[in-house]
Amino acid sequence: MANNKDTPQKQRVTVLGATGSVGVSTLDVIARNADRFVAFALTANSNWERLAAQCATFSPRYAVLKKEENADRLRERLRGSNCTTEVLTGADNLCAVAADKNVDVVMAAIVGGAGLQATLAAARAGKKLLLANKESLVMSGQLFMETVEREGATLLPIDSEHNAIFQCMANGASGHANGIRKIVLTGSGGPLLREPVEVLSRVTPDRACAHPNWKMGRKISVDSASMMNKGLEFIEACWLFSVKPRDIEVVIHPQSLVHSMVEYIDGSVIAQLGNPDMRTPIAHGLAWPERIESGVPGLDLSALADLHFEPVDLNRYPCLKLCQEVASQPQSYAIALNAANEVAVAHFLNELIPFTDIPIIIDSVLEQTSSEEALTIEAIVGLDREARIRAEETIGKK
Ligand code: NAD
Ligand code: MG
Repeated sequence: MANNKDTPQKQRVTVLGATGSVGVSTLDVIARNADRFVAFALTANSNWERLAAQCATFSPRYAVLKKEENADRLRERLRGSNCTTEVLTGADNLCAVAADKNVDVVMAAIVGGAGLQATLAAARAGKKLLLANKESLVMSGQLFMETVEREGATLLPIDSEHNAIFQCMANGASGHANGIRKIVLTGSGGPLLREPVEVLSRVTPDRACAHPNWKMGRKISVDSASMMNKGLEFIEACWLFSVKPRDIEVVIHPQSLVHSMVEYIDGSVIAQLGNPDMRTPIAHGLAWPERIESGVPGLDLSALADLHFEPVDLNRYPCLKLCQEVASQPQSYAIALNAANEVAVAHFLNELIPFTDIPIIIDSVLEQTSSEEALTIEAIVGLDREARIRAEETIGKK
């Protein structure tokens, strides 16, 4: 049926990392707003069974998996249904479904450096780009922001803090810090906030992943426990909002209800509040500059016992300190820090190293890193690969 002129076309969305925590929340918001959005492509690493269920519900034109064997399983499963989704594999197709001319919106929700190329492909194609994958911006800051600018992409922050800051800025505009005195980045302190520092070396992966307020993937959960997540967000904020490290203050806020704040030179402090549920920033990004239902209940202010804030103890959170240092250094250090963290966190999750070794490994890799601006994707990928090898070697020597 031809499109009625008065009926706006639905926006076609590619969800990179559809089977993860952010991906699932994104599809939940899309399902609630099926009159406005339709899934164009859904991608996953290996979880073909969840992807099969998502294909059955959303009938995307494409599904992308990393490996052929999982793609075969998915094709087999879909053959029995009347779902016509075409199943693709590999990194090139991941970039292709992010850049496809039929796509309006790309949700970048792959975890880690693995998401860099496809996220950049969406920026290069000038898409409306919803950025959850903070690691890609940490790795490629200047190249990423220049690409967004040059190609006219619309970059919307999905990380709850950056989405909050974006909402607190006058006109929702990023990049021009008019009248801003500072950005206050809030962080819960994670599940180990009150744990004695002496016992941190014995913390198990499950304990580190038991976040009090947010339900997230395991890598970001460990990053929250070490506050590496806040550190990556610190670097992310410098790029997104064109501010200097000295313009950002990190504050512990255990309840995760104030998602961040912006203080202006006249003394005004604007905060964004809401229940800790990623569907709020996702819905904000999807609909911006409009508003849509997200499924998140409103805040019951009279039921809130307390909104507590306290300064960060950097001795407890050495990963945050490393990020704050790296934020004012050339790009090669941020690439090395991110790569070393990913390798160290994977080893911790496999119970091969203690939690407290994570910053030690990162520090050691940073010491072996030379200063480079890394303005091309080839340079970034090369430095990332080298840093991962250094991190593996450092762990091997311990
Ligand atoms: P997750 O582990 O739950 O999901 C990750 C997704 O990426 C999955 O769909 C997985 O299949 C895919 N993936 C993993 N490795 C891949 C690879 N090598 N190639 C292709 N796809 C791959 O992670 P998450 O918690 O949803 O986080 C996703 C991103 O969003 C991260 O960068 C995280 O920092 C950011 N983020 C998450 C939250 C949250 O609440 N979970 C909040 C803010 C930001
Ligand atoms: Mg966040």
